[in-house]
Amino acid sequence: MTKETDVVIIGAGPAGISAAIQLDRYDIDTILFDKSEPGGLLVNASFVENYPGFPKGISGRDLTDLFKEQLRSKGINVCREEVIAVKKNDGFFNILTSNDLIRSYIVIIASGTTPRKLIRCTIPSGAEGRIFYEINQLRNLKDKTIGIIGSGDAAFDYAVSLSEHNHVIILNRSDRVKCLPPLFEQVTKSVNISYRENISIGKIDVCDEGLILYPEGDGNSGNEGIRVFCLVVAIGRDPSTSFISKYIMADIGSLKDTGRIYMIGDVSNGICRQTAISVGDGVRAAMEIAMRMRDNQI
Ligand SMILES: Cc1cc2nc3c(=O)[nH]c(=O)nc-3n(C[C@H](O)[C@H](O)[C@H](O)COP(=O)(O)OP(=O)(O)OC[C@H]3O[C@@H](n4cnc5c(N)ncnc54)[C@H](O)[C@@H]3O)c2cc1C
Repeated sequence: MTKETDVVIIGAGPAGISAAIQLDRYDIDTILFDKSEPGGLLVNASFVENYPGFPKGISGRDLTDLFKEQLRSKGINVCREEVIAVKKNDGFFNILTSNDLIRSYIVIIASGTTPRKLIRCTIPSGAEGRIFYEINQLRNLKDKTIGIIGSGDAAFDYAVSLSEHNHVIILNRSDRVKCLPPLFEQVTKSVNISYRENISIGKIDVCDEGLILYPEGDGNSGNEGIRVFCLVVAIGRDPSTSFISKYIMADIGSLKDTGRIYMIGDVSNGICRQTAISVGDGVRAAMEIAMRMRDNQI
């Protein structure tokens, strides 16, 4: 049987969590979905120093634990299901998950971003299990050599986290660094991180210990390549919206204007992807929904 609710939130990262907490204050019937552990991308952050309330900074993992604790203390449940499709039918949204079909009047899209895949070189079979796009699942690695491709905040932040117990090689295909200056300084001072510029990986081979990375043009030149246990690819992220039907996307402007769809957090914030912004977006969306419901606008 199809379940019904006033609001469905897709994604329990900082944006979705804060929307759920604020909607709970208004007693609005809400279902919050996440396909994986609540907390979102933030769990990957080595050190968050720009989230108010933590004058000494806090690790991404500790901050997400606090978010989750707040959900638990309010009795807000996160349904651990992936939303596969969002369609519109008879004036309502149908939300199809891996397990259920939900009908709701309002949808909050808080699904964040998905990583850009490595497309400049072919990935041989057997290598997939050694290539990662986020680092949470690598936290327990020790004494390994890990390659990271990228030049932005995420690549450098991942290097700082992983270098605590491993040796990390950052591979930047240009000589331009896009990360925050303090992060760059931290990386250049670390004895466990090697930073290499103007190096673009053109070929990957699998070996007993992991992967061999060959710089472009070097694959067949006798060059020994760079041996790593695994590779982290941090070359940018795009909004995660593939589950939204094309008919909804075509009408997204008016659905937003009429308060039927909210897109909050990283999924809609371009380059301004920060936790505090996502949290603010979540609170604002929930307040607007409550006001519109009170005024019978929806
Ligand atoms: C290495 C790193 C360091 C960072 N450092 C900082 C920092 O110091 N300060 C700061 O403010 N920010 C930092 N950030 C950014 C911060 O993590 C993000 O801005 C924030 O997590 C965005 O929150 P969000 O809720 O919008 O999206 P996300 O955190 O991406 O959450 C989206 C959620 O939606 C879920 N989801 C997606 N699709 C579906 C689906 N179809 N069905 C169900 N669930 C779905 C995902 O599983 C995820 O849990 C950092 C990010 C990284 C990667």
